[in-house]
Amino acid sequence: MKAELAQLIALQNADTNIRNLQAEIESIPERRAEIEKEFDQRAFEIRTLEQQRDAAFHERARLEKEIFDQKQRAERADRNLMAAKKPDEYTAAIREADAARKQISAFETNVLEQMEAFETAENQLKERAPEVEKLRVEMEASFKAFDEQVQQQQKEVEAARADRERIINELPKPMAAMFKRISARIRDGVAVAEARNGACTACYMALRPQIMADVRRGDEVITCDNCNRILYYAPDKKAEPVGV
Ligand SMILES: [Zn+2]
Repeated sequence: MKAELAQLIALQNADTNIRNLQAEIESIPERRAEIEKEFDQRAFEIRTLEQQRDAAFHERARLEKEIFDQKQRAERADRNLMAAKKPDEYTAAIREADAARKQISAFETNVLEQMEAFETAENQLKERAPEVEKLRVEMEASFKAFDEQVQQQQKEVEAARADRERIINELPKPMAAMFKRISARIRDGVAVAEARNGACTACYMALRPQIMADVRRGDEVITCDNCNRILYYAPDKKAEPVGV
């Protein structure tokens, strides 16, 4: 009986191990998102600078296009001026050419501003290039470590499942069935509980001295009257914890 109790404890440890690993594996997407979020926050200033640089680049391109259009407008007005025959045609052409050249001048000022903004952002990015590189290297290392951890956990859960199968097969059938029955009924799936200091450590119910003595002897499988878990006695504190 003592050997079988030990197997039940081992089975419980395997179950708990599987459950914990399973929870870890299920949380992989969240844990990965956590790492991404951390680096996103650290890269925030860099990204802002990149956005400023790109915005200045695109705004400048837009202004260049406007200047091109206004230059055409001015040329058209110049041609009209040359071809003008009446005073009002002449006046209109001069006014049109003036308006176009004022616009061009305003856009050119804007272009200079955008070039300055671009260079400022670009220079700051250059200064911070080592920081960006460091961040990139750290992020890669973080993901690599994470992937390795995930692989390790997947290996462990497979090993724990194989372990569990082996123990289940070694146990007498009625005992394996009892374990499964109890473990299915209990919410946390922990079917085995240590009896310590005259109480069940799972539900804290006090155990009668006779029960405690029986558990201590370990000749038969004894369950807690309150929570129905299989009770075992660990002679010293170094006994493997169950259900942690
Ligand atoms: Zn109990």
